[in-house]
Formats: sequence, structure tokens, C-alpha cells
Amino acid sequence: MANEVSRVRVRFAPSPTGMLHLGGARTAVYNWAFARSQGGNFILRIEDTDPERSTEENVQIILRAMRWLGLDWDEGPEVGGSVGPYFQTQRMETYSAALQELKSKGNAYPCFCTKERLDACRKEAEAKEGGYSGYDGHCRDIPANEARARIDAGEPHVWRLRVPEGHGPIKFQDAVYGDMSFPADVMDDLILVRSDGSPTYNFAVVCDDANMGITHVIRGDDHLSNTPRQILIYEALGFDVPTFAHLPMILGPDGKKLSKRHGATNVEDYRDRGYLPDAMVNYLALLGWSLDGETTEIPRDVLASKFSLDRISKKDAVFDEDKLTWLDGVYTRGLDEQKWFDVAIPWLAYANWLGSSAPVGVNMVSSLDKNQQKERLASLLAPWDEVPAEEWQGKLADVSDRREWYLQAYPLVVERQNTFNEIPDKLAYLFWGPNVQLDEKSANKVLLKDPERAKQALQICREVLASDGIAWEAEALQQECRDKGEAAEIKPKDLFQPLRVAIAGNMVSPPLFESIVMLPREDVLARIDGVMAKVF
Ligand code: GLU
Repeated sequence: MANEVSRVRVRFAPSPTGMLHLGGARTAVYNWAFARSQGGNFILRIEDTDPERSTEENVQIILRAMRWLGLDWDEGPEVGGSVGPYFQTQRMETYSAALQELKSKGNAYPCFCTKERLDACRKEAEAKEGGYSGYDGHCRDIPANEARARIDAGEPHVWRLRVPEGHGPIKFQDAVYGDMSFPADVMDDLILVRSDGSPTYNFAVVCDDANMGITHVIRGDDHLSNTPRQILIYEALGFDVPTFAHLPMILGPDGKKLSKRHGATNVEDYRDRGYLPDAMVNYLALLGWSLDGETTEIPRDVLASKFSLDRISKKDAVFDEDKLTWLDGVYTRGLDEQKWFDVAIPWLAYANWLGSSAPVGVNMVSSLDKNQQKERLASLLAPWDEVPAEEWQGKLADVSDRREWYLQAYPLVVERQNTFNEIPDKLAYLFWGPNVQLDEKSANKVLLKDPERAKQALQICREVLASDGIAWEAEALQQECRDKGEAAEIKPKDLFQPLRVAIAGNMVSPPLFESIVMLPREDVLARIDGVMAKVF
């Protein structure tokens, strides 16, 4: 049991009032990594007490984004745990019990002040020097029997914390910011429970953190000013105060707090743009923490064993999407062909190139409007067991039947792709069947500048590619074309560029002959014939 008590317990406590944004995801990564590195427990708690803004849909979005990032939680929604429930709306009794205790100790009192009175006080104070410093304690000393009578008569009231008079400065040691001290005499008697009976954020969060045995509260530094108030509540309830670690802000490249203005801040947007979750977690970890001040590539297992609070920086972090993209490239190139293909599958399905029923040459993406594209992509990028069965009918069979064929695409693109959303475009030419989608610029430059020469080049290559005597292998075909070209005094570049345009539609396709041998011979010949007929 002693072991149990000293075990690290941390929580990520999102409010389901929107998507999981980058700042929240960074907080989740740090909590997860700290729990893992300490052999502790990572708890997910949904703070859904705001009935207007919390939605079940947002809960699902947050859980999905957490799963996509691979941040598994030991206790929380779906997995349960011994100190649940893990939704604040299901913990109302625990807040009532805590309030009851504060009442019985005399640490909470009812306040009947109307909004009008409070507004007037604020206005008056703001007009004076020094400004408004919070609630004036008007209802602090209402005698208990009078308060009781007013409550019984149904008079609306909130419950406030009685901040002890003469309380010295509220001190704590933040694991990031060090010694912190806030004067208690400027703290007004904060509201714990609203007139509708709902707990305020500060009250609920303290009750939950205490009742869930949270040892370390790791969260954004926008909550720093709440911490002294929360400590007062811990003290009033007689709970141990956990260790706090407040994380530095994340700024956009312009030095302003990261927000929608800076582009995507929603984690799932990165999923939909083809980033790898491993790269994302690595990059988020670097936004305010470092392993040794220089290592940028920090795989998940290293993070899970080496993460420490003492290497979190006080300095604001700057979100740099180029660096994320670069890191994503590092992770992409680190994938072996099997893993690469597993990541590529939904992208190939997105373009409708998986499955025998897929119409040849039609890139599904382009026939959908933006919203349809988004929906389709989201459904395909969900974990496999969540993808609707009809999406996969016929496709999975194709994936396993022709896996070897698909794997041949790996060396063609892995070095040339940035993110996986480029896959539908980069590999399109493998799925065109006998027809080429010709890029006009490439055709003008490569085929029409010197049409006679281009035509001759294509004829030479066509002859080689049509010949039964040569194995359908990249090297053999390339060598034979090269020899034939040389004999006709055509330089390799002048020979192969027209062929590249005729096969892949443009000048910048992946390796040519390695691509050609992935296609059936009759399609290769048909493409050359089609382009010659169209262009010359
Ligand atoms: N629900 C709060 C938020 O999303 C959590 C604050 C905390 O970690 O204490 O900001």
C-alpha cells in the first residue's frame, strides 16, 4: 500500500468545449510521458461541467485524437478505474459532499448578493484608485440562523470559500517556475458552488484532483493564477497539496499566443494532412522540454523513459510547422516498407485506388467537394475497427492479395514524400490504366520543343518495351533503351524525359523504369500510343 500511495498519478483534464488543440495535446503528452517515465498512472478526466459548451461529440473528438496520438490512459473514459467516474458531470455528489464538509467547518458561507449589487460594487471600485480587488465580503458575517432562514425561503445564493483572515502568503514550489508566492490578503472569497448548484472550475478541479489521488498537476501556465486559489481550497478541505508544474506558453512564429490565426491548431487537422502521430508527439514534446538541449529526434519509447519535469523550460515555446514537417519526414523515412504501406492504405483508399471495384484512372478525391473530402478522409483515417465496413468491402482483400505489388511503390516515394497526404497525387500514375493525365507544361517542354526528336525517342523506347525478348525488369529495360538510344545518337536525358511524360504525365515522377515495371505491359504501350496520337 505504501507503494500505491507514493506512486505518481497525473491527469489530463480537457473541457470538451472544442477540439483537441495543440496546446492541450502538448499538456497531454507531458502528463503521459511523466506518468510513463515514473511508472505512474495517467488519468484522463473530462471536465464537462459547462452545459452550454460541452458536447458529447467533442468528447469523442478528444478521445479519438488521444488515441491517434497513441497517448493511452490508464484510467478514464472507456477504461474505467477505481476512482471514477471520470466525467465531472457524474461526480456531482462528491462536490456536494465536499461543500458539506466546508460548511460544517465554517469554511464556506452562502452569499445572497445579487448580480446588480456585485456589478455596482465593481463599478464603484473601478472608479476609485486601486481598482476592483474582488468580492467585498458583504455576506461573510450573516448569522447562521438568518442565512438558514433565507435559504429555506428560497432566496438565490452561491457558496463562497471563507479565506482565512491573516493567512500569510500562499507559497508553493512550481516544478517549472520554482518558488511562487501570492499574498493571500488580496484573494477574495471565491465562489465554490453557483446558485444553480453547479461547482465552479476551481472547486471541482480541487475535489477531483484530491479524490483521485493526483500527485502532480501538470497544465498550461494560463492556470498559474488559479493555483493559489486552489491551494486555499485544498487547505480548507484538509487535503495534501499536489506538486504543480505549469507549462510555458506556445507562441506562433510571430511571437503571439498560438491561435487559429496561425493556421491549424487542431490536432486532427494534422492527421488529415498526413502527418505521423509519432512525429507529432515528438514535436509536441519539444515545445517546452528538451532531452539534452540538442536532440530533436526523440522516439516515443525514449520520451516514455526519459521525460522529466526538471527539463521543462520557463521560456515560451514557438510552434514552427516547418520543423514539424521536417521531423515528420525523418519519421517517414524511418518506416520500413510494411509500416509505410499500412500508413499509406487509407490514403490510397481515399483516392479510391484500393479494391478491384475501383474505377481505373478516377481519383475519387477530385470528384468530391471540400466537406465530402474531409468526411471521407476522417472516416478512413479512423482506427481500422471504426471504419465503416462498406468502406472496406473488397478493399481489404485487395490489400492483402496485392500487398507485394503495393510494396513496390515504397522505394519510389518514401524519399520523395513529405507527408502522407501527398500519396494520392504522387502515386496517381500507377492507377491510370491505359490512359495518361498529361501535364500541359511538361508536354510543351519535353514533347513539343523538339517534336521530331521526342517522337523518335518514344518510338525507340516503345519498341524495346514491346519486345518479348527482354525481361520485364527495370534495369534490363533501361539498359536496352539506353543502348538503342545511343545507337541513334540520342542522349539518355532526351530519351527518357519524353518516356517519363508519356508514362507518368509529367517531368517529375518517381524513378521511371521502377514505375514502368509495376504496370502491365499493355498499359505502358497504350499510354505511349495515346500520348503520341494526342501530341504529335
Ligand atoms: N479543464 C481545464 C482546461 O481545459 C483543465 C485545467 C487543469 O488542468 O486544471 O483548461
